[in-house]
Amino acid sequence: MSSEAILLDSTNVADVVLPFQVDGLDVRGRIARLGPTLDAVLAAHAYPAAVARLLAEALTLTALLGSVLREEGGQLTLQAKSNGPVSLLVTDYKAPGEVRGYAEFDPEKIAGIEPGASLPELFGEGYLALTVDQTASNDRYQGIVALEGASLAEAAGSYFETSEQLPSRVRLAVRHDGLANRWYAGGLLIQHLPRGEEGAQRLFAADAPHPNWQHATVLADTLRDEELTDPSLTLETVLWRLFHQDQPRIYTPIVITKGCRCTRERIQSVLRQFSFNELMDMREPDGAIRVNCAFCSKDFVFERPAEKD
Ligand SMILES: [Zn+2]
Repeated sequence: MSSEAILLDSTNVADVVLPFQVDGLDVRGRIARLGPTLDAVLAAHAYPAAVARLLAEALTLTALLGSVLREEGGQLTLQAKSNGPVSLLVTDYKAPGEVRGYAEFDPEKIAGIEPGASLPELFGEGYLALTVDQTASNDRYQGIVALEGASLAEAAGSYFETSEQLPSRVRLAVRHDGLANRWYAGGLLIQHLPRGEEGAQRLFAADAPHPNWQHATVLADTLRDEELTDPSLTLETVLWRLFHQDQPRIYTPIVITKGCRCTRERIQSVLRQFSFNELMDMREPDGAIRVNCAFCSKDFVFERPAEKD
């Protein structure tokens, strides 16, 4: 069977998030794998390998965290700013399943850094901000975590532990098939819900983790990076391998696609906020103003400066 046939025969191998619950362990979670969506986002810019891998991890984390938003148009944004080799990393999610992202980096500083380097090597000192916007209910909140620890997964785990006081484990893995230039990334998030209920009072203090939670994290840690990223394994298979003793309940998958919100109208309304003189300064020798979307690299050309209202 060719690899094409495997992809056609099985659903839930890439660009999908599966929510699940393991009642016997008081655990809820989500498992994600991205493939063609990553290729599409990463192709918009020529990133060094270390930056591409970091962005792939961040997009997978964004799909894991954002897929909890079910309200049409609900948004989640991850933004990391630092003084290090990767100066800016932005990814966002828009319900029901669009992701996008980009990174800015210093080419000289990033040159000696290996793919999969630790957060301090990639960012130096910096912070990761997580913003959630639920447009319909007008609900907005932001949480911030230091870019510490070995990986983005560790930083995300400590974010949940400190901001939401929810015992959480995050796994992220990335694989690059160099010959075909294909990217795959996988992620797992599990959280402990005592008595299986959100908001219920915790039976065990943080310094004495619940045995169910201990067992769940031990299982999550046995997951190999290859299982998370291998497109010939469905996500159901991965979940069953992990939690078969406790029979995970798997919910409707959420399909992930690459999306961008840049439109000519939106960019025009940004340009209108500049003064006439500033717009004159933006003109290129041919008199046009060119605006490039940082996310998808699309160029927008305005022949005349946008009129002020
Ligand atoms: Zn765009």
